[in-house]
This record gives sequence, structure tokens and C-alpha cells, in this order.
Amino acid sequence: MSYAAFYQKSIQAPEAFWDQEAKLIDWHKPYDQVLDHSKPPFAKWYVGGETNLCHNAVDRWLATQADQPALIAISTETNIEKTYSFAELHAEVQRMAAIMLSLGVKQGDRVLIYMPMIAEAAFAMLACARIGAVHSVVFGGFASKSLGTRIDDAKPVLVVSADAGMRGGKAVPYKPLLDEAIALAEHKPAHVLLVNRGLDEMKLVAGRDVDYATARAQHLDAQVPVTWLESNAMSYVLYTSGTTGKPKGVQRDVGGYAVALASSMKHIFCGKPGETYFATSDIGWVVGHSYIVYGPLIAGMATIMYEGTPIRPDAGIWWSIVEKYKVTRMFSAPTAVRVLKKHPLELMRKYDLSSLKALYLAGEPLDETTSSWIATELGVPIVDNYWQTETGWPILSVARGVEQTATRLGSPGVAMYGYDVRIINENTGAECAANEKGVVAIKGPLPPGCMQTVYGDDQRFVNTYWSNFSHEQLYSTFDWGIRDADGYYFILGRTDDVINVAGHRLGTREIEESISSHPQISEVAVVGVEDKLKGQVAVAFAILKNPELAETPEQKRALEAEVMSVVDKQLGAVARPSRVHFVSMLPKTRSGKLLRRSIQAICEGREAGDLTTIEDPSSLQQIQAALTA
Ligand code: AMP
Repeated sequence: MSYAAFYQKSIQAPEAFWDQEAKLIDWHKPYDQVLDHSKPPFAKWYVGGETNLCHNAVDRWLATQADQPALIAISTETNIEKTYSFAELHAEVQRMAAIMLSLGVKQGDRVLIYMPMIAEAAFAMLACARIGAVHSVVFGGFASKSLGTRIDDAKPVLVVSADAGMRGGKAVPYKPLLDEAIALAEHKPAHVLLVNRGLDEMKLVAGRDVDYATARAQHLDAQVPVTWLESNAMSYVLYTSGTTGKPKGVQRDVGGYAVALASSMKHIFCGKPGETYFATSDIGWVVGHSYIVYGPLIAGMATIMYEGTPIRPDAGIWWSIVEKYKVTRMFSAPTAVRVLKKHPLELMRKYDLSSLKALYLAGEPLDETTSSWIATELGVPIVDNYWQTETGWPILSVARGVEQTATRLGSPGVAMYGYDVRIINENTGAECAANEKGVVAIKGPLPPGCMQTVYGDDQRFVNTYWSNFSHEQLYSTFDWGIRDADGYYFILGRTDDVINVAGHRLGTREIEESISSHPQISEVAVVGVEDKLKGQVAVAFAILKNPELAETPEQKRALEAEVMSVVDKQLGAVARPSRVHFVSMLPKTRSGKLLRRSIQAICEGREAGDLTTIEDPSSLQQIQAALTA
């Protein structure tokens, strides 16, 4: 079947289409209804059906490939490399599940996972899925304030963590940050389960903290049956940044997500049981959920969990992994490829990469230079794919498992099946013509696998995503885009205050709030500025309460470092601005609204845009002067 026909089927008869796709997973009890869309924009998929993500990822494969690799945990930081077969993974997940049960975790309870990229993190996610607990993984790069906010929103009964992670040869403490986050948070988890890697001193809090190795030893023979869950039960909450300072908990279901992953693994990522998949992301991001842990395992593939950087011990490391484990499908981000490009090519060329069939790149715009370079080097198709934490799987790409659709440089591809993608004029709400810029929107219902709601806040889900075009059936992605006459889309940046640093999504408001907590700062604006390597970096312009504190270049530098360390401590180094400039005035409209876009334009050497409403044009000159100082 042509992709066009496949796509049309998914849009014109979604229920029949997704009924068919649902056969890709195991159901304990068949569903009564494929889709319940009686309360738009909420969509319930596979109503009444019972299944389980852990069963589909692990147990399901025991009959046919119990002894084949399932999880390959590689750390180039600790030099630990271990392969778990499906049978071994099954045993470890049951041990973890038994520990959770013994700590009082019940179906529907939240478990927050704050862990480095170690096998135990995957055990914890799968164990939650097994017993019907709801995991909320928080990226290890986030610090105590970010973590505390998430603890207060998710209200976990248990936190699973470790003494430390490791990056670039240095231990990165987790436990002290977690202790601080719990101290900051109003909600107090009953227990903290800790994996001691021997990287950092770890003091256990009596009555609350539990050592994982000790607990595991008590549950070595644990047999924990799968808890069958109604398809629309919650599987996880993953926080993501938006326009406000408060991150949103993206809530996902069980059945729809399992089907979407099985389906995308087949049609887009073309993975087959017995093959090896290598996604270089982190479990703290959506890619880690969909395409490190659940997707590949649901497809019966071995999945690689990698702790380390792309360039240690040298820039050949990822390719040595591809050779050694005969990786067939690899998933990374454009920034990582740009990093590799700066290193000697011999490091890449010395490995046998003949197993590799395609490289998938996502998370940020893929520029043509990077794309062409890596395509030539690897000699395999480069498959850009565009999606979001909210959707859980690609919105735009090419489904090479359906048809070998051609790709187009600079475009992530065409609309993926199930997504009725529209380009909408932001002022009129009408659909844009070909090649006309508008907001990328999706006509509801969203396909299986997409977010169910904002955790604990249905109204925020409706207000944030479905109320932008006076048309409740249009979901806004908050990305600008165009569609060409052939149906290929081009993404042109965010419409909101979200920035994308090395594929990591950050809210400028969160960073501003953090900087404002420095006692010397009275006001601040943070913008995303184009960067050759990372796509974008955050740049801050701050007004001081006492300007005389930053008159000399030395004083400025010292204060800048102080502000950066506040962000490091509160949000994590991932959110640290690349520069903090001090000004005495920020560009604002007469009504007091910050003109972030104008600041951004000046930083990128562009015209500042429409300035008819600006209160004082000299504020822009200050920005310019700060940049050239
Ligand atoms: P996240 O939710 O962290 O995955 O970030 C999603 C956002 O990253 C999208 O809304 C886009 O702004 C951007 N993004 C993700 N994938 C791509 C891509 N392939 N091309 C361009 N932008 C992308």
C-alpha cells in the first residue's frame, strides 16, 4: 500500500485503522470501543480493554526469546557493560516490583524516578508499569528546585534514586540534591529507594531511605504477576516546560501508548525482534520513555542504555557500540551529530557499521549541512522526525516501514498516520495555503499514545492546548511551520517562550524566575539565541538593584558567575544561560510586556521587528551595547 493511502485510511476511518494496529500488542481483555471521543478534546482509546506495558515489553517475549538480549546497559563513565536477557530483565523487574510493593506502593500511586542512565532506572520504570503504579521520571540534570516542584505536583509515595551519576569522568551527586528537594517540597514521600553505586558518600535517612542492594537480596526469587490495567489507566507523568514557570505534567495512558509504540516501531522505526536499537537520549526525556525503554522492548528488540558522552573515551565510542552490538536502528539528536563532526573522521570510519539501516534524528531542527554530512559518512538514510513530549511519538517523519517515501532536506517529512496536521493562520484561525507560514496544529482527536491530559488539571490541558484558534478541535503544537505543495512540512521555531538547547526543552520563564531569586536582581529577560552547536542557547539580560555593584568588567564577571550558579543549583546546569548581561532597562511595550522577540532578534543580528508599541527605544540600544561590550 502507498503511504498516501495508508495515511488516508488513518484519517478517514481512524477507528478501523487503530483497531487493526491494536493487534500488534497483547490484550488481556479485548476492548469494547476503539475510541470514545464523546467529551472532546479528551480522547479515550481502546475503552474497556485490559493490557499492561510491562507485559508487552518483557513477559510477552519470554516464550520466543527468553535468552536473547533485552537490555544492554553500557557506561563509559564507570566502564560497566552488562547485557540482560529477556528472562533476566523479567527477574530484575519482578524484584524491583516486589520491593515497591513491600514499601507500600499501590496501583495508581506515583513513583518519582530521579536516576542516572543505569539499568536499575529501566527496572524501576518497568516495575511501576507492572504493578500499575504511575512513574514520573525527572531528568538527572535537573537540580533541587526543579525536582521539588515536581515532587509537589506528582506527590509520589516513593522516590527511586542513586548516590550519583557520572559525566565526563566526574561524579554528579544525586542524593544530596534529592534530600534538598524533599526539604523544599511540601509533599514528603514515605520512602526513598537508593542504588548505591559507590560514587559518592551516601547517608541514609532512618525510616525513609532504603538501600536497593539490601532490599533486592530479600526479593531474589520474587514473582510479581502483571496487574492488568484498563487501557485508559495512567501509565506515567512526564513534566515538560511551557509558557508559564510551572512545568506541565504530561499524562499518558496504557493501551493507546502501547499500540502507538508498537505501531511506530513497525512503520517508522522498522525494528524487528532480535535486532538491537540504540537511542542516545536520556530516560528523563520523552525519547527515553518511548524509544529507549518501552518502544524497542515492545518490538522485541534489545535496547541500549548508555551512560556517558558521545566523545569519551573518544568520538568513536558510539560507533564501536554499533559495531559490537550490531545496532540496526539508531536514534540521536542533531546536536550530538554536530559535536561528532568536530572530531577526526577516522574515529568513526574505523568501525564496521554495516549492521546500521537508518539513523533517526529528532528533538530540534536538523540543518541541511549536518544532515548531508552524516548521511554521506554513514551511507544510510537519515530520518528526521518531529514530535513532542505531549505526543509521545512522531507527528512528522517518513514511514519507511510502509513505503520508502523520499525525504526532503530541511523537512522532518510528511504528516504521520493518525495525525491530521494543519497549518493555521494565527490571526484568522483559517488554514494556510501551501508555503504560507502558520502554527502547526492537529485536528482532534489526537491518535493513540498522545497525552491524555495535564496531570491533575484537565482545565489547563484544554486552555493550554485546545483554546488557541477559537476552535476546540485544534491542538496547538506551539511551533511555526509551513507545508509545501507536496505535503512536506518545515518547522520554523516556537510560537511561545520555550527554547530548545541541544534538543532539551526549557521554559525561559523558569530560568527568569530562578535568576530573579538572586538578591541583587530586580528584573530579568531570558531569550533563546541561535547557536551553531546546540541549536539555541539561553541568554539573560538582567537589571541590578544596585547597579554600582557591576561597574567594572571584573565585577560583572563575578556577578555573572554568581547568577549562573544560582541557576545551576536550582534548576540544574542544563538550564544555565550561556551569558548574563547587565542592563539598566529592558525593552517593554507601553503596557509593560517584555519584548522578548525583539531582544532575541538583536542577539541574532536581525532587525528588532515592529517597535510601534515600545516604551523606550534606548532599551534596545542597551541590549546591543551589552552584546558588543
Ligand atoms: P520536547 O517536548 O522536549 O520533545 O520538545 C518538542 C519541541 O522540540 C517541538 O515542539 C519542536 O519545537 C522541537 N522539535 C522536536 N523535534 C523536532 C524536529 N525534528 N525538527 C524541528 N523541531 C523539533
